Amino acid sequence: NEKTLAIVKPDAVSKLGTIINCLKENDIQVCKAKMVQLTRKDAAIFYEEHQSKPFYNPLLDYMTSGPVVAMEIMGSDAVKQWRKLLGPTDSNAAREQEPTSLRAMFGTDNTKNAAHGSDSATSAKREIEFFFPSSGKS
Ligand code: ATP
Repeated sequence: NEKTLAIVKPDAVSKLGTIINCLKENDIQVCKAKMVQLTRKDAAIFYEEHQSKPFYNPLLDYMTSGPVVAMEIMGSDAVKQWRKLLGPTDSNAAREQEPTSLRAMFGTDNTKNAAHGSDSATSAKREIEFFFPSSGKS
């Protein structure tokens, strides 16, 4: 079993029930979950690898536009499995290529794409620690 971080982004929070059912149907367990309003500073740290990209500011605007739900999820090959369920980054491409994916169903465009999944086991570790710090015991 592998763990990864999922974030239900602001405009898909209303679809949380459907997203959790989708995890369940795919044998992915939710270990931890919390709803948080990210500050701009939080979002900037989380996405620091993208700071030089043209979509960085719109991405921070979007990620701070309302509460998100962060989940530590676990299952067989969870990093890859969860990204497969998400579909391509661009929601419009997702509708063409993976019409049953979560981004196809709930995303709007390239930035507003419904949910996030860590891209590797290494980033999963960092991202889980970001939302669920192990020293904090909370
Ligand atoms: P995520 O990390 O959120 O699962 P991803 O790994 O598919 O998505 P990244 O390249 O890590 O995509 O980009 C992080 C986020 O930045 C994307 O989820 C999306 O919201 C936004 N983004 C990525 N590429 C673009 C782009 N070309 N134009 C606009 N927004 C983008």
